[in-house]
Order: sequence, then C-alpha cells, then structure tokens
Amino acid sequence: MEPIKVTFLGTSGSVPQKDKNFASVLLAYRGDSLLFDCPEGTQRQLMASEHSLMSVKNVFISHMHADHFLGLFGWISTMTLNQRKEKLTIFSPKSGKEKITKIMREVIFPSFPIEFKEIKKGNLMKNEFFEVRAFPLKHEIACYGFVFKEADKKGEFNRAKAESLGIPPGPLYSKLVNGEKVKVGTKTFTQKDVMDYTKKREGRKIVLVADTRPVKETIAEARGAALLVHEATFLDKQKEKAIEALHSTAKEAGEIAKKAKVRKLALFHFSARNTEETEILEEAKKEFANVIVSKELETIIL
Ligand SMILES: [Zn+2]
Ligand SMILES: [Zn+2]
Repeated sequence: MEPIKVTFLGTSGSVPQKDKNFASVLLAYRGDSLLFDCPEGTQRQLMASEHSLMSVKNVFISHMHADHFLGLFGWISTMTLNQRKEKLTIFSPKSGKEKITKIMREVIFPSFPIEFKEIKKGNLMKNEFFEVRAFPLKHEIACYGFVFKEADKKGEFNRAKAESLGIPPGPLYSKLVNGEKVKVGTKTFTQKDVMDYTKKREGRKIVLVADTRPVKETIAEARGAALLVHEATFLDKQKEKAIEALHSTAKEAGEIAKKAKVRKLALFHFSARNTEETEILEEAKKEFANVIVSKELETIIL
C-alpha cells in the first residue's frame, strides 16, 4: 500500500506558543501534497519538515479566522521569489477569495496562477487516486471539516492469468485494468478476465476537523476512518468556555472518535492555557483508547 503521511506543521490554536506553531496539517500521498490551513509560520514549518514548500498544489482553508490563513501571504511571496510557475488552488469558504485577494493586492505579485474555489458541502476534488470532500462544522463563522478518501481498490491485476490467456505483456495490461476491452487475435478480453477481485480493498479515509463544537456530521463522515484529526482547544473543566467560543474539549473529541469507530484519533489546536500534554491525553483516553496528542512536526504514516 502506498503510504499516506500526515504531518502536523503546528498544533496550537488562536495564538502561537513558544514551543508550538499554529495548527495546520500537510497530507502527502503518491507525490501529492495537500495543505490543510495555512496559518502564520506554515512556510517555516514546511521547510523544517521533509516536504518542500513548493510542492503543494492544493490548500484547504477551513475558515477565515486569522489563525488559519494568514500564512498564505508570506508563503506565496517566498514561492514567487523561487519563481514558482505551477498553479496553486486555494479552497476557502465563501468570503475567502475576496479577503485573500484584498490583502494580496498591493504587496504580492505571484509568479504563478492562483485559482480560488469556494468550499461547499460535498466533493471538492477527485482524481484516480483520491478525493477530498467538505462538510460543515459549527463555529463562529462558516467552517468546514475535510475528508480525504483514497480510491477503493477494485482488485488486483493477475499477471499469471493474463499471460496464460495469451495476452502479450505491455500497454494492453493497463488498458484491461482501466476497464477497456482488448482484442488479441480473434478473442476479446475484458477487465474481469484478468482481475483478482478477492484482493479488493476499501480506500483509507482521513478526516480533519478544525475549529468547531462537536457535530454529528463528523461522526457520519469519520465512520471507520483510519485517522480522525480533531481539535481539542479546551479541557472538560473549561467546557463553558468551549461552548462560548464554539470549540471542543479533549473529552468531546474522544466521544466523537468513539461514536465514529475510527481507528486512531489525533488531537490538535490546543489552547495556550493547556500545556500539560498528559492532562489532555488522559481526558480523551477515558473515551477513546487509541488517541495521541499531536506534536510539532510529528508525522503519522498510514
Ligand atoms: Zn483556530
Ligand atoms: Zn476559528
């Protein structure tokens, strides 16, 4: 299986901390790098990671609070100095394009095209290997969670069988795998002749949830996910504050993971009030055992 790498470029919410950057995540899969939120400091964290800051083609901004998108400008400036030519696509909620272009207008003249796409509930992008979709969260302003879903594997190509049928190795094999009919001599072959469907596998799912109160949509979207990344700004003893500021507690994140039956939960977006990692971890663990408190530049490989 191709690895899916999830790197925490930062883990702090609202304000940076002396040992923590603002929360954002880089997901790398099959040579593609997807960036989820781009707060201040993201470009330096990308430099410190194993990923190149030039390699990202798609950025997903969960919402237009400053701690989730102010890093776009410095990063775009650096890529312009590096003479990037490749298009960058920025997905953001409705007001995003206007706000981002307004800030950029007088100071940044990108060397590459930037395409803006408005985030709406549902599919945002899809290729042969994966898709990304969005679902609404509950925060002060419009905010979205994201589902990265690897394409399901229908089965595995059975080379020995193809050879035994007399199909010559080469481009015909990929045609068959991709569902095309292939003619060899007088015989016509289809995908089912050369596929071992017992090797089918459902694609892995990773769900990323930034600022929000706990919502039932997360439970539905994250059902069976390989990994749920969920904010845990507050602790249970600060629940009133969480309700008021429309954030979640570590306990609530654990409850969501339990209900969704995910395989692993990673907490992030921590308040500067909560610096005791074990306190956060223990609280979530009471609800859901396989949980981690994400660390700066930590990478989870799935
Ligand atoms: Zn935030
Ligand atoms: Zn926010």
